[in-house]
Amino acid sequence: MSFKRAAGTLLALSLLPMSVNADEAVNVYSYRQAYLIDPLLTAFTDKTGIETNVVFAKTGLSERLDREGRNSPADLVLTVDISRLSELVEKDLTAAVDNDTLENNIPENLRHPDGKWFALTTRGRMIFTSKERVEEGEITTYEDLADPKWEDRICTRSGKHPYNIALFSSMIAHHGEEKAEEWLSGLKNNLARKPQGGDRDQIKAIAAGVCDLAIANSYYYGNMLEDENQRPAAEAVRLVFPNADGRGTHINISGVALTKSAPNRDNAIKLMEYLTQPEAQRMYAEANTEYPANPEVEASGLVAEWGQLNPDELSLQEIADHRIQAVKMVDRVDYNNVD
Ligand code: FE
Repeated sequence: MSFKRAAGTLLALSLLPMSVNADEAVNVYSYRQAYLIDPLLTAFTDKTGIETNVVFAKTGLSERLDREGRNSPADLVLTVDISRLSELVEKDLTAAVDNDTLENNIPENLRHPDGKWFALTTRGRMIFTSKERVEEGEITTYEDLADPKWEDRICTRSGKHPYNIALFSSMIAHHGEEKAEEWLSGLKNNLARKPQGGDRDQIKAIAAGVCDLAIANSYYYGNMLEDENQRPAAEAVRLVFPNADGRGTHINISGVALTKSAPNRDNAIKLMEYLTQPEAQRMYAEANTEYPANPEVEASGLVAEWGQLNPDELSLQEIADHRIQAVKMVDRVDYNNVD
């Protein structure tokens, strides 16, 4: 087929009414919020003519997929956190995708070994310090959080939260279980209060003088800076990229998985490919002050102003593999039980 004819065919296709593609629409189950996802899907439809439908939910999508089984209309799942992606794999709800575009765009440590999930964005699990009460450079690593000099000065959310479990899993991967447990118990001894609230609450607690150090994901800080009411609290803290000069900062991901029962597999993979391309990567990361998973795409906007992220390149699958160990370790040190 000559180029001219090919171009003519493409044009003709793009002039067809959308309804022709209706039964090939890509159906997405999303744990991620509409304001993040809708602009991406609109851009994808504008480019390809492929329609999409989305079900948004805060919980229960993997249970729903499980229940629907082979009759599920869902093609893709969009979610945050390695634990949720792993849960889909463990329940055998996702399909392996062997695709060059996806493998070129997403580094090996940020995708499932068999392509059962792919990261789309990353976020650093950061240390935040009081600008008033902690000197710049006074803490530089996760390991330092266990130093007795920080006694009664650290705030975190529950040790059982997936974000902390992933961080603790990375400590097990790097140091072995015994050393990781020693560290965790040192960190627990330094807590200023019983673990509670979300990541933003830990930053607010520094601003309120409850603690001097906190652990929180990078995008919460970014979103607080962008919110007039929360900006003062965010401005009271300094962001530290932990282990920046060593193995790198622990990151977690948001990602996408193709469902095992996907009725529109081909178009779904086209959407997966699109989401890993520079345009979508930039849009997706910027909307939630995250980092693009595609290393060819630079962090932009507010996030770029914080400085360079040097991510720990430990595979997220390995982090997932230590999850159960990490949960048990949290129980053994009784992390959440602080007087
Ligand atoms: Fe979050």
